[in-house]
Amino acid sequence: MIEVKGLKKSFGALDVLKGVDLEVPANQVVCLLGPSGSGKSTLLRCLNLLERPTAGQIIVAGQEITRADADLSKIRAEVGMVFQHFNLFPHMTVLQNITLAPIKVRGESPEAAEKRGLELLARVGLSDKPAVYPGQLSGGQKQRVAIARALAMQPKVMLFDEPTSALDPEMVGEVLAVMKSLAHQMTMLAVTHEMAFARDVADRVLFMDGGVVAEDAPPAEFFTRPKTERARAFLDMTP
Ligand code: ADP
Ligand code: MG
Repeated sequence: MIEVKGLKKSFGALDVLKGVDLEVPANQVVCLLGPSGSGKSTLLRCLNLLERPTAGQIIVAGQEITRADADLSKIRAEVGMVFQHFNLFPHMTVLQNITLAPIKVRGESPEAAEKRGLELLARVGLSDKPAVYPGQLSGGQKQRVAIARALAMQPKVMLFDEPTSALDPEMVGEVLAVMKSLAHQMTMLAVTHEMAFARDVADRVLFMDGGVVAEDAPPAEFFTRPKTERARAFLDMTP
């Protein structure tokens, strides 16, 4: 589903991704771990072209998205993203947040988009919230709306960038439960500090360090026998 070859990304003189090679088969769940600043967000953002790679190739579902003439809105539809800070539109209702892109980008009728939007709200446990505004929701509810909004585009790949890091502890579980319910129904890459989620749900853990993938292993192996000193130190510091 995803093929990354020799991916580099620099911001001015700062080399953030220094050559990432990666293949992710369809419906795999990959957790990205690693110290702050190691390039995890930049890698995810390159995968839906929120950042333009400096070098290298990214192929998603057989399409090279790094080609100069790639269709950005098609790529964004196929590769959904959920952010730490939800990024909902505050002046729109929950249902409007979810139906906006299907109507504007995919050309769905409002009726069809709303029907599907309500189904997605049920799927994330928010059937009673279509008409409320994001400001009236808890953090966990906002993040579940953000997930439903991304799903509304029927993405092949879902990227999660620390989706629970901005939540109060009592709300983390409800968001992880929704993510777990999506596992293996689509290809999923999640940057997370939730080690239990990585251990229980991921097929594979990528440990990033200094702009490269330093380890790539099944969670049972990574958590019990990390190969690098950096990963051992990282795991020692993480609860
Ligand atoms: P992580 O998600 O692993 O914490 P990031 O990918 O966010 O790391 O950032 C890696 C490095 O790239 C950091 O040093 C960060 O400051 C820098 N960086 C990220 N985005 C930008 C940007 N748009 N402009 C300049 N520097 C950036
Ligand atoms: Mg980050």
